[in-house]
Amino acid sequence: MNEKRYDQTNGIMKTYLPYAERHRVVGGVRQKLCNKCEEWKDESRFYKRCTNRDGLAQTCKECSDKATNKCRSRRVKRKALSCMGLDQQYAS
Ligand SMILES: [Zn+2]
Repeated sequence: MNEKRYDQTNGIMKTYLPYAERHRVVGGVRQKLCNKCEEWKDESRFYKRCTNRDGLAQTCKECSDKATNKCRSRRVKRKALSCMGLDQQYAS
């Protein structure tokens, strides 16, 4: 059931490219096409993701970091607000 759903999302994704089209070798260096910024980067610029066929994440480290930072800053903001509330309670 879950597998069927997974295949459907892959079919809808426009950026999805077959394995061969997302990998190339330039000057002996293996490169991979980032799914997010759509730039060719060395495979060393991708985080490891053992669940993927090539053992690498679909997005480069820069894009992955950006995505994490976005989530993190959103979380920090919420935390900061709650901290402020606590601070006010302490002050009064
Ligand atoms: Zn990228």
